[in-house]
Amino acid sequence: MIIIKAETSKAATPVEKTFKCQQCGNDFTTTANHAKYCKDCARQRQFDRAKAYNEKKKNLQLRPLGSTDICPECGNEYLVKSGSQKVCENCRKKYTNKMKSKTNAVYSAKAYDVITVYLKKGEKSELKNKLEEYKQLSGEDISVNEFINEAIKKMLKELDSKIADLELPF
Ligand SMILES: [Zn+2]
Ligand SMILES: [Zn+2]
Repeated sequence: MIIIKAETSKAATPVEKTFKCQQCGNDFTTTANHAKYCKDCARQRQFDRAKAYNEKKKNLQLRPLGSTDICPECGNEYLVKSGSQKVCENCRKKYTNKMKSKTNAVYSAKAYDVITVYLKKGEKSELKNKLEEYKQLSGEDISVNEFINEAIKKMLKELDSKIADLELPF
């Protein structure tokens, strides 16, 4: 009877230990074995992380059509007509030409074959959006062209091993 009572009361009062918060430097007590931050700082850190994550996510989401954004080329405000729009209408032509001539300069430097690939409606923009999302998160820029080239390389390798399997003597 006495033993049971003692055990119960021991379990009901876990030992509190004192830690120094690495954020605010205040001492705090907790029954946990390890703690870096006091309750307030831990909550604040979690809140900050969630906020940063949401902001990153929000920036990736397409801006609502009809809203305004600042053109990075000329600094003027412009009306957003599509989610992927980066510059104002006036700069768009200049911008597209600049990108085109940059791409052409790279690809005319060496000999390339050109193939035309037909994609199902919507797949091109889906691919472009995915690559853009990847670029935003990783900082690594992969063009649709590079992506398709990589995909072809991978598939060729796979095809090589399939051919090798078929050629195996029985
Ligand atoms: Zn603290
Ligand atoms: Zn502009």
